[in-house]
Amino acid sequence: MNKTELLRSMRLFLFDMDGTLYLGDELFPFTKPLLRAIRDRGARYLFMTNNSSKSVEDYVKKLERLGISSTRDDFITSSQATAYYLHRNLEGKRLYVAGTESLKAELRREGFPLTEKLDEVEAIILGFDTELTFKKLWDVSWLLTKRPDLPYIATNPDLVCPTEFGYVPDCGSVTVMIKNATGRLPLVIGKPSPLMPELAVERLKVKKSEACVVGDRIYTDVKSGLNAGITGILVMSGETDEEILRSSPDKPDLVLRDAGEILSALSL
Ligand SMILES: [Mg+2]
Repeated sequence: MNKTELLRSMRLFLFDMDGTLYLGDELFPFTKPLLRAIRDRGARYLFMTNNSSKSVEDYVKKLERLGISSTRDDFITSSQATAYYLHRNLEGKRLYVAGTESLKAELRREGFPLTEKLDEVEAIILGFDTELTFKKLWDVSWLLTKRPDLPYIATNPDLVCPTEFGYVPDCGSVTVMIKNATGRLPLVIGKPSPLMPELAVERLKVKKSEACVVGDRIYTDVKSGLNAGITGILVMSGETDEEILRSSPDKPDLVLRDAGEILSALSL
């Protein structure tokens, strides 16, 4: 199958957002027509994000500001994938959540009991916590040391999160602090883990051969697709340059200048 045929055979597009559909607060010119073209074909798209500090509603508002209307159902987040993992592996367990109120709300909505009574905790969840306190670091360190058999799960591996001035520490950096204190590393849910693509394919009942991830980072976006056994498409409109692409151990199934090339293929 050539590039155009492959793109035209897709029934589900999982889009990374920043660097793929927009850059910072600037929407790419092809984004709106691309999303419309996918819908017009009867195919589906989802926006896929590792961020577990913003609830889906925050993303709906951000896209609205950029001129794209969306609903909760258009998103797949590391918080949702965490709930998916928990349903499969730790159903009904009492969770200690070191995360934002929006992550806690999401897990409560999924039916998980949350507790801060350390003796009652049955699993530890660490998110990108913009409401982080030393007490949470203390509690997590205590739990991992005193109750070493507890499952320990982090929503995403990112070390830093972009801001308008540069970066702030993200969930992955907090896992490093905790490792320094306890020697423990978590099971990590977000990209490059295959869980978000797997959840998406299952939720929308699409064959893996008809689903793809589209993103600007090989080591997170593309790799999550490759790990899940679906097509991994790299776009060169964000973080990756030719040098990074050449030296990457992971090879995308397809490399595009930008997601506008998908629009061109679908418009033929
Ligand atoms: Mg990106």
